[in-house]
Amino acid sequence: MSKVRVRFAPSPTGPLHIGGVRTALYTYLIAKKYHGDFILRIEDTDLNRFVPGAEEYIIKSLEWCGMIPDEGPGFGGAFGPYRQSERKEIYEKYAKTLIESGKAYYAFDSIEEIETMRENQIQEGNKAPKYDYSSRMSMKNSLTLTENEVSDLLKNSENTIIRLKVNPGNEIVVNDLIRGEVTFKTEELDDKVLMKADGMPTYHLANIIDDHLMEVSHVIRGEEWLPSAAHHVLLYKAFNWEETMPAFAHLPLILKPDGKGKLSKRDGAKFGFPVFPMNWEGENPEDSFIGFKEFGFDPKATINFLAFLGWNPGNEQELFGIEELIESFNLSQIVKSGARFDIDKAKWFNQQYIIKSDDVEIAAYLKLNYPEIYGGIQTSFLEKFASLMKERVELYTDFFTSGYYFFEDIKEFEEKIIRSKWNENRAGHLTKLIPNLLNSSFQPGEIKLELEKYIKENEIGFGDVMPFLRIGISGTMKGPDLFEMMGLMGKEMVEKRLDEAIIHFNNVVADK
Ligand code: GLU
Repeated sequence: MSKVRVRFAPSPTGPLHIGGVRTALYTYLIAKKYHGDFILRIEDTDLNRFVPGAEEYIIKSLEWCGMIPDEGPGFGGAFGPYRQSERKEIYEKYAKTLIESGKAYYAFDSIEEIETMRENQIQEGNKAPKYDYSSRMSMKNSLTLTENEVSDLLKNSENTIIRLKVNPGNEIVVNDLIRGEVTFKTEELDDKVLMKADGMPTYHLANIIDDHLMEVSHVIRGEEWLPSAAHHVLLYKAFNWEETMPAFAHLPLILKPDGKGKLSKRDGAKFGFPVFPMNWEGENPEDSFIGFKEFGFDPKATINFLAFLGWNPGNEQELFGIEELIESFNLSQIVKSGARFDIDKAKWFNQQYIIKSDDVEIAAYLKLNYPEIYGGIQTSFLEKFASLMKERVELYTDFFTSGYYFFEDIKEFEEKIIRSKWNENRAGHLTKLIPNLLNSSFQPGEIKLELEKYIKENEIGFGDVMPFLRIGISGTMKGPDLFEMMGLMGKEMVEKRLDEAIIHFNNVVADK
């Protein structure tokens, strides 16, 4: 087998959707599995849709996921440039060869003329009017005009484009590694535009020329490109590049959580979860999106989750590190049907990764990614905090949402229990118990022993003091082991909190 060279070819038209990240992942896995090259190519020939910052966003997202291109803008490589806008002359040259061989032609029609042609076809009962073999001979192009007219228009027309000449009566077979043979009839295909009036190539032309020149072995991309594949095969034929034509693999769609329709960029806001890898600041709030990263996902978990959106290893194993994915991943195990986006599953993966990570790793991650919260916190404190919380969170952001009280004053107390259970007697016990606890070495085990001793001596139950200690120091009944929490918070904080809690609890009951 010749060298595996695969490319991820996003258009910088906005932030990279999570579906794009999955395409990048599958492409990356194939590259690594076969010791090939993972190429990043920026397809920026559509000037109207170019969005500043999108290329940087794509690169940062790939880096966050650990998928570093072997070749690409800023990554080097012998097949550059890797930005299509920097390859204009190449496309012009190749488009001309198609004109010379009669596989393509110039067209000069204005938008209005094309519109009239479409309306006429509709009136004749054609539901899908096209610029194709049946209509081209009534249009303004180098097939219908004289040589002189053509050379005149080439100098003066603002509408000059190049179209592929698709002849009717043939069948085009696209051999897809996931879908098998997909057949198209050429009379159903239009004469695709190859070069636009602004001098830029269309996606179709640029994509084929680049895949050829960059010696791409496999084209791995979303299902939405399958209909274009027929034109792509025609283009390979037109250039006489059929022998080295890459293999195609069109990936299944990613569906909305209810399975009804394609997951869209707006679904994130609608369902309250991220559909982008990282935060994106758009020009206005509707165009700004939260990312998996900022939502609290680990990149390793994100990748594991994405790998399963359309693929499975055929056994029960779900947790796959990147090396295991590289080993197990296979294009032939990709499913044909759409994959439902299940955010709960994503959270489950994340939870598994957090539980598996060691405390040092988690503390470092928190410090690095949430410096505004954890930047000034002692590492040993953060590591212990990580160990207490890691079994109780799904996302990195949950560490703070659920355990903020380790770092800030309590915002809210679970008052229901206080209202129903707090009384003078219990207030008395807590007041007497606190100095005993504080006089211990304040190791979790010691605090526990002191508490047990007090309970025994006073012939009361755990329920007479434990809930109030817990709510007093954290505001909530949920949370890690009480004694571990107290040990980590330290004497000073615990003393202050419990003193304040007694006053607060008394007030709550007095207001009843
Ligand atoms: N530029 C196309 C996109 O944005 C690439 C499709 C392909 O991989 O051929 O998805």
